[in-house]
Amino acid sequence: MPKAKETVLEIDLKALKHNLEYLKSKLKNSPKILAVVKAFAYGSDANIVAKYLQDLDIDYFAVAYVNEGVALRDAGIKTPILVLHPQAINFKTLINRCLEPSLYNAKVLNEFITIATEEKQSNYPVHIKFNTGLNRLGFWENDVDYIISKLNATSAIKVKSLFSHLAASEDETEKVFTETQIKNFKSISDEFTEAIGYKPLLHLANTSGIINYPEAHLDMVRTGIGLYGFGNSEAENKNLKPIATLKSVISQIHNIEKGETVGYNRAYKSNGFETTATIPIGHADGISRQYGKQKGFVTVNGKKAPIIGNVCMDMIMINVTGIECNEGDEVIIFGSHPDAEQFANTADTISYEIITAISQRIKRIILK
Ligand SMILES: *Cc1c(COP(=O)(O)O)cnc(C)c1O
Repeated sequence: MPKAKETVLEIDLKALKHNLEYLKSKLKNSPKILAVVKAFAYGSDANIVAKYLQDLDIDYFAVAYVNEGVALRDAGIKTPILVLHPQAINFKTLINRCLEPSLYNAKVLNEFITIATEEKQSNYPVHIKFNTGLNRLGFWENDVDYIISKLNATSAIKVKSLFSHLAASEDETEKVFTETQIKNFKSISDEFTEAIGYKPLLHLANTSGIINYPEAHLDMVRTGIGLYGFGNSEAENKNLKPIATLKSVISQIHNIEKGETVGYNRAYKSNGFETTATIPIGHADGISRQYGKQKGFVTVNGKKAPIIGNVCMDMIMINVTGIECNEGDEVIIFGSHPDAEQFANTADTISYEIITAISQRIKRIILK
């Protein structure tokens, strides 16, 4: 691939396909696969990723908010789209664009029934979310009778699926808790299915659920981070390929004397005769200040170069003392090595945060 001439995020669709195939190899009873493409497909490019996955016959997409679903419809995506966290103010738009809401409490259930009825819908597909321990969104088990009574009183909506979300599926020390969540979800869905008289799809597993809990695969699995190349463990990261590589270039090189300082608030002080390079990416691009002061590093011509001083809005400065390099040379921030998880760990965070933080002003380049 050509060397970067500016800051770019390269998206490798072959890696995406590899990851999908790897995750599929973990599935025994061929459940449906829902691809989570919220937050610009985890910071990559939701339209391109969703089109590519649609061509690979993915069964479902999920986004967090209605506007994300609208953008996918505008891009020509026809596959069903679950909106995980819709707000009532957008319900009419949601219906007009054939998006499917997650209904997670009495308030949104009733608001959605009202709007679906006003919009003269019948059997509009909805997804009922249960809380089994994450305590974020979801009805409780003892709400089942209430939900059924509401559903029996309307023909405007019909339950397409029941789902819940695991709180710690990547965490080996929380196996007992996760198994309890799985057991509780099964008991809630049995009770619900019996009361409603038809069988909605059941889904529970995210990427780490796919990898660690085959008994949670059920009728559909929801994968996000795995598609983008991370398995939430060093062992699984080896089986997956990061789809995104963040690259930049050296804008300027400075040779500084011992005791000179670099950047705002003079946060780095030179220990001797040193060489620094200035790179056109900053905290406005998602490289937060946590990566500054020699915590994070980038790669220049195969060598590690620490980020020195404070991260600026549009730039970082790196220490390239002893590294052969010139103005205009390519710089790798993360990709396959170090990968985004390793880069994120230098600032005490995780792959999810750094990849979704990469700002929209950075150009995306698609590798096919
Ligand atoms: C974001 C999200 C997922 C995807 O989780 P990964 O760990 O990225 O696979 C699945 N389900 C829900 C409800 C989510 O919010």
